[in-house]
Amino acid sequence: MSFMEDPRRLEPATPTPAAPNGGHGLPGKVALVGAGPGPVDLLTVRAARVLSEAQAVLYDHLVSAEVLALVPSTAQRIYVGKESACHSMPQAGIIALMLRMAQAGTPLVRLKGGDSFIFGRGGEEAVALAQAGIPFEVVPGVSAAQGAGAGAGIPLTHRDHAGTLVLATGHLRGQHESALDWALLARPRQTVVFYMGVATLPTICAQLQAHGLPGSTPAAIVERATMPDQRCIVGTLLTLPELAVTQQVKAPALVIVGEVVALQPVLAQTLVRA
Ligand code: SAH
Repeated sequence: MSFMEDPRRLEPATPTPAAPNGGHGLPGKVALVGAGPGPVDLLTVRAARVLSEAQAVLYDHLVSAEVLALVPSTAQRIYVGKESACHSMPQAGIIALMLRMAQAGTPLVRLKGGDSFIFGRGGEEAVALAQAGIPFEVVPGVSAAQGAGAGAGIPLTHRDHAGTLVLATGHLRGQHESALDWALLARPRQTVVFYMGVATLPTICAQLQAHGLPGSTPAAIVERATMPDQRCIVGTLLTLPELAVTQQVKAPALVIVGEVVALQPVLAQTLVRA
């Protein structure tokens, strides 16, 4: 589906400024806001306030309808969603639109799933804003890894099992296995969370074993973490790729690898879901 066709895109792609800064020629401030993993009550209080005062919002695919509902109905809502395989609007186009609106004096909220600075390309947008001399703030969000750990009952660190936590992308550019430092990712007493790792799960599991992790290393997929229909599938590096196929895992989902995953069945006995 293209950017133009998406039904969630409620406003024109090239809007006129919602509220120019009184015609004084100053750029509008941009707030890069993390929308968290989905449920509205996992937003920060600051994010909720910024959203409730928004005049124009550029939002992504992973932002839930519940969160978007906090934006006043009078505000412009512009969907610039991205999905791994079909980018609705190229990143350069998103940045160009954001700069154009801010330079015209429109205060903007740039709303992304999870945290903007964790695999959200918020870093690229912040650099573009800084280079264009546009003031911006960053409101952190609960990232999917934190949501998955809490929602599924997988402590991401634990003194007995993992003293290091690595957040990695499973989106291997051009599917090249060399894109990641596998030796580093395969170290013991470490938890590795792969974002965007469902499509490349067989490669991830094979490479971690090739670089020294036993096939019996616990590994899990957390699908739609923190949502009412969250699923957690626990296996090992050996079994998880096949489990993902038989269980028909779909995005958004995270892959968590490490001994801490073995605690999930223990915690799940009395873990109460919100
Ligand atoms: N900035 C986001 C990550 C964007 S990358 C954050 O901090 O969470 C997109 C990837 O995040 C997805 O492919 C998936 O791996 C993960 N993701 C986002 N929301 C998720 C959710 N609710 N459950 C599981 N994984 C999620």
